[in-house]
Amino acid sequence: MSTHTTTPPGTFDARQVKQDFPILQQTVHGKPLTYLDSAASSQKPLVVIEALDAYYRASNANIHRGVYWLSEHATALYDEAREKVARFINAPDPRSCVFVRNATEALNLVAYSWGRANLEPGDTVVLTLLEHHSNIVPWQIVTAERGATIRYVDIDHDGRLRLDQLDHYLRTERVKLVGVTHVANALGTINPVAEIAARAHAAGALVLVDGAQSVPHMPVDVQALDVDFLAFSGHKMLGPMGIGVLWGRREILEAMPPFLGGGDMIREVTTCGSTWADLPAKFEAGTPSVGDAVGLGAAIDYLTALGMDAVRAHEREIVAYALERLAQVPGVTLYGPTGEDRAGVVSFTLDDIHPHDIASIPDSEGVAIRAGHHCAQPLMDRLGVVATARASFYVYNSEEDVDRLADALQTVRRIFGPGA
Ligand code: PMP
Repeated sequence: MSTHTTTPPGTFDARQVKQDFPILQQTVHGKPLTYLDSAASSQKPLVVIEALDAYYRASNANIHRGVYWLSEHATALYDEAREKVARFINAPDPRSCVFVRNATEALNLVAYSWGRANLEPGDTVVLTLLEHHSNIVPWQIVTAERGATIRYVDIDHDGRLRLDQLDHYLRTERVKLVGVTHVANALGTINPVAEIAARAHAAGALVLVDGAQSVPHMPVDVQALDVDFLAFSGHKMLGPMGIGVLWGRREILEAMPPFLGGGDMIREVTTCGSTWADLPAKFEAGTPSVGDAVGLGAAIDYLTALGMDAVRAHEREIVAYALERLAQVPGVTLYGPTGEDRAGVVSFTLDDIHPHDIASIPDSEGVAIRAGHHCAQPLMDRLGVVATARASFYVYNSEEDVDRLADALQTVRRIFGPGA
């Protein structure tokens, strides 16, 4: 990792951090690459790439299998990665951290395993209009199967959740679970998850948090939040694609039936039936992504060295700067809250120019932003738009990247804007 000697303690210089990311050193369309789509997937520092390389060069074998050194070594590395994950989210027991492919799989695991076993006709699952499709669709499938109902907590004008509606549902319906995203991927709203959990628990409901956009960007402590499940993806937090985590309260995970059946998740199989392995193996059927778990461990080491408070402080600064700079571009409409509860994501529209056109000009300048519905179509409907353009920031982005985007948006306006 770069040394960050010129910056005050507890902070870092994003331009120095960027030097650790080989992919960001290239030019695109002849221009330096400015990557502003980390909410979709983050880039990887050299230490993560090297950890993957080292694993496949020296340590690769299937785990829990052979009584030979390489398999034992790979198993130890996999266990060590799980311990790093547990420390990172302050989970009391690493065995409650289940490795999955991504946040989507983690959320499906809860819906299919817990939902199928616990939802009954007449029960309610409360979600919010800020959810990513991956915390909506599995619940639509499972509630339909179980005869349960979904209610959605609405947002106010600034894109904040209407907690009065949550209270209303908790008071008037038999709510078994509240599913909420910690940070909204399309609007950047940081939801008051601890407060939501306290209210849900008081009404006897469990709380499932989608941490795909929070765990990479701020300190997340499952014990302080006092939630029941937390789902997140490695690839959004500097780790490899193909590895994610479901953390759950131990006693809840222990009471849940398996999600997928097969090798590694059993204690004993006979022709008449099977019994299940202990946690976490019960939920990790088949050969896991050991190398990717090791890569995630390296990403966690890197983020821990930067300091998650410093990561959050950096994003608070850069998003404030972005909101100010983009507001100066005539015709820009910005979405989402503007206070302390705003993460490093900025969704916007520009006059009535289609977001794909908005994104195409920055691309020709080497600036990568996202355009679309961000897998949040119910939210887009609520906002009355079909799509937005979105810039999202991470540890390697600096104000210079925001300036390049703002300049490119002026060009968008000249080419596609009113009177063009
Ligand atoms: N939830 C949120 C809030 C997200 O932003 C995303 C990814 N855009 C997901 C879930 C799904 O993540 P993955 O595709 O890695 O499963």
